Amino acid sequence: MSESVKIKARAKINVILDILGRRDDGYHEIKTIMQTLDLSDTITVSKNETDIITISTNSGKIPADSSNLAYKAAECLKESYNINGGIAIKIDKNIPVAAGLAGGSSDCAATLIAVRDLYNLPAVNSELAEIGKSIGADVPYCIYGGTYLAEGIGEKLTKLPPLPMINVLIAKPDIDVSTAWVYKNFDLSKVRKVPNVDKMREYIEENNIQEICHNLCNVLESVTAEKYPIIDDIKKAMIEFGALGTLMSGSGPTVFGLYMEKKECEKAFNYLREKLGIADCFITKVSNN
Ligand code: ATP
Repeated sequence: MSESVKIKARAKINVILDILGRRDDGYHEIKTIMQTLDLSDTITVSKNETDIITISTNSGKIPADSSNLAYKAAECLKESYNINGGIAIKIDKNIPVAAGLAGGSSDCAATLIAVRDLYNLPAVNSELAEIGKSIGADVPYCIYGGTYLAEGIGEKLTKLPPLPMINVLIAKPDIDVSTAWVYKNFDLSKVRKVPNVDKMREYIEENNIQEICHNLCNVLESVTAEKYPIIDDIKKAMIEFGALGTLMSGSGPTVFGLYMEKKECEKAFNYLREKLGIADCFITKVSNN
């Protein structure tokens, strides 16, 4: 049996995001299409001689204690499957934190998979997704990865065909945006463009990259981009350098641009870093695993 398992925890973007209403428990009903990226953290889980769970990370921006979502994942599995032994979790963080890229949910999902494999637990992915749902609404999606329509609070998933292999430029401005604040301040009357998720689904099924790029839409831009003009500045710059489409991901503040040509993507990357001072920029691709 292996003593250590290493896997990638991939970031996601939302290519379209609509809010259908607010539930009595305070959560919002959403309808969104998510796409996994190559951009990833690396999770390594190892056995240790103790009976405890430990977290180590190269990032000063995430907690290294029991509030880390990766810790919660290991804790849930340890309790559900009576794991006898310790779990050391190492998180090499590349995905910007609190960015709308599901970094925490993805680390959580990757830890569920890695601990399952480390201890040979008899849990298929759908069982891990059920456990993950209690930690975060995006965790089931992060377990499967790829292109999915997500409904409910994000946990009702329908698999879609993969997006075309396109270059993705990611830019996270240096501002902290809390997901809870964004949802709390969402006001339907302030939405600037209404998304058509069903149409977007058709474009994805037709592999129609032009229409996919023209119909990127996120109602949460009406909250986050309204407050932080840098988001529209980034979108404008990405378009000037040849992006086919741009959008804020999730609750933000990260913006992504989709590029056919890697060269244009690289030029935009340099401009955003040097002229707009955006340090957290990445050139990546969509990923379907
Ligand atoms: P989402 O797109 O799902 O809303 P996000 O990208 O906006 O997520 P995360 O990077 O997941 O945000 O971080 C949200 C919060 O979760 C942060 O305040 C962070 O401290 C906390 N957190 C706990 N564990 C982790 C982890 N392993 N990685 C990132 N954030 C974590």
